[in-house]
Amino acid sequence: MLPIIAIDGPAASGKGTLSKRIAAHYGFAHLDTGSLYRAVWLSVIWAGGDPANPDMALAAAIALTPQSAILSHPGLRGDDAACAASKVAAMPAVRAALLDFQHEFVANPPGGKGSVLDGRDIGTVVCPDAPAKLFITASAEVRAERRVKELRGAGQDVSLDTVLADMRARDERDSQRAVAPLVAAPDAFLLDTSSLDANQAFEAACEVLRGRIGLA
Ligand code: C5P
Repeated sequence: MLPIIAIDGPAASGKGTLSKRIAAHYGFAHLDTGSLYRAVWLSVIWAGGDPANPDMALAAAIALTPQSAILSHPGLRGDDAACAASKVAAMPAVRAALLDFQHEFVANPPGGKGSVLDGRDIGTVVCPDAPAKLFITASAEVRAERRVKELRGAGQDVSLDTVLADMRARDERDSQRAVAPLVAAPDAFLLDTSSLDANQAFEAACEVLRGRIGLA
């Protein structure tokens, strides 16, 4: 089996930046699994449908392939997409369809060396046998501040209060849903990035990975 690094955690915990960097460091393929749920929502919107309709959301999930251009569309990056994604993500059939997508990715990662997947249920459901699992956390306030900085950097006029409230609502929905809720796998290493910058988080993660799967 090719090496798999599973990275989970709540929104804006720093897991996306960290995952990309780890993937680049080891020459592994990276899959941001949140973009799959975001793309399901956007596909339904583009088709003029209602993302709250489970049949429409499922059809969009089944149609998604690694080549789908929508996966890199800028329309996926806003907080509106994130909130809407967490609603389609609570639909069991959508999750099952996207599970096939993710399993295919780890079986045949681009580049053929290994993969880094980040999301909410990678260590618990998608790749429970992954030899290396990290669960990235940070306080809600720190995460909201990071998100505000990111959104303002992208030219969006947002308030900290609104972003914090949206983030808490999304955390709640992701943690309380019946299927594949956001939870750390028992064998995941918990990394709190509240007081770490991106470099420090990367160094701490590499230290763990060295111990877990012998990667340099
Ligand atoms: O990671 P990101 O913030 O892009 O994820 C958007 C939403 O997609 C999350 O709030 C969550 O509801 C859902 N998601 C999920 N399982 C994953 C990745 C994302 O349920 N593995």
